[in-house]
Amino acid sequence: MAESKTVHSPLLTYFSVLSLLTLCPPFVILLWYTMVHADGSVSQTFDYLKQHGLKGLIDIWPRPTATAWKIIACYSAFEAALQLLLPGKRVEGPLTTMGNRPVYKANGMAAYVVTLVTYLGLWWFGIFNPTVVYDHLGEIFSALIFGSFVFCVFLYIKGHVAPSSTDSGSSGNVIIDFYWGMELYPRIGKHFDIKVFTNCRFGMMSWAVLAVTYCIKQYEVNGRVADSMLVNTVLMLVYVTKFFWWEAGYWSTMDIAHDRAGFYICWGCLVWVPSIYTSPGMYLVNHPVNLGTQLALYILVAGILCIYTNYDCDRQRQEFRRTNGKCLVWGKAPSKIVASYTTTSGETKSSLLLTSGWWGLSRHFHYVPEILSAFFWTVPALFNHFLPFFYVIFLTILLFDRAKRDDDRCRSKYGKYWKLYCEKVPYRIIPGIY
Ligand code: NDP
Repeated sequence: MAESKTVHSPLLTYFSVLSLLTLCPPFVILLWYTMVHADGSVSQTFDYLKQHGLKGLIDIWPRPTATAWKIIACYSAFEAALQLLLPGKRVEGPLTTMGNRPVYKANGMAAYVVTLVTYLGLWWFGIFNPTVVYDHLGEIFSALIFGSFVFCVFLYIKGHVAPSSTDSGSSGNVIIDFYWGMELYPRIGKHFDIKVFTNCRFGMMSWAVLAVTYCIKQYEVNGRVADSMLVNTVLMLVYVTKFFWWEAGYWSTMDIAHDRAGFYICWGCLVWVPSIYTSPGMYLVNHPVNLGTQLALYILVAGILCIYTNYDCDRQRQEFRRTNGKCLVWGKAPSKIVASYTTTSGETKSSLLLTSGWWGLSRHFHYVPEILSAFFWTVPALFNHFLPFFYVIFLTILLFDRAKRDDDRCRSKYGKYWKLYCEKVPYRIIPGIY
């Protein structure tokens, strides 16, 4: 069995576990409460909590209702069925350290289109009104908080008693196993990949579904959709569309190929993505800011350019790896490093590191357009309140930490070859600065 290695020190892991367990759930509820019931004003919520203390928090914490559970159950079952049943090309994931190569069915784009068409169809034909989701949002988040915790306990038990592959293992510490996860590719049966479900079909899909929900809610309340909401929704949908277009590429990124299925990633995708990632749209429902056509178009175009650039960085790296360096990068033959490394089973393998194009500007340049895209779909909210910008700030911290984690991992994997890459491309994220 593979050793389960932690990416942070045990102390930081304990701190993260405790914070995720104790701070993130109330944060999700307070963010929802502030956006929906306190005019988006942090100080209003703060004053309320100052006056009412812990009891105040308990009072506003929505109890998971039958409606909330039903919505989650129908959505999950629908997405799981699409994942299993829709046709798709056979795609092989990257080779794992244990020498396994997971196989996927690339039907994400089809699932995305079917989901949005079904959701809009249900609304159009009066079968289900998406405003019900918005009206029960707090209860849904509350149910997700508890339901996802139970799901992670299931993952922990499965990792111990019925791992799906040899890419699984225990660190010897219960808390770390629960938090970072034990299995790299847990599956139910041979075909149902749990991480594809949690990360892509539940988490990322919910982002698009909720973006549309917020738009419809504003339309039903005001009889029209403000240009700020339109820009926000279109940019978020372009981003999620890009994600599903490239979903098979996502299966070779850190989330899937390196991070194990545990509380950290699964709780994040099941709770944090639907609540925090969608929060600028949640704010706009009750704040129909009018930007004017010109400003709205400028923001829209800037946002689309950033999303495209982010996509092109990922595409460039993956095309380079797929063709074994036999491709053009910005019209020229790519410059590269042939980096060899040793697998846990002692075999020597090699990978190519691209050192030109976007990957020659800095080692994680793709995070710059990622952060800017988030800024552009948030800025339509303008600057009356800080809270809509929380996601941009969170994302910046997350990606700076991720760049460091990835550098550390690559340094220990490639040794002197990574050092050489760092000499050729000295900046980690922002060319010339960091
Ligand atoms: P990637 O998986 O795309 O890239 C990192 C990996 O690529 C490294 O671990 C290494 O893996 C390989 N690599 C590193 N340098 C090179 C190089 N020069 N040439 C070839 N291969 C290299 O990173 P992420 O998973 O962080 O990002 C994927 C996408 O997801 C990005 O678009 C990012 O912006 C987005 N993202 C979004 C987040 C969000 O919350 N909104 C969070 C995180 C990411 P190997 O071992 O194969 O060499």
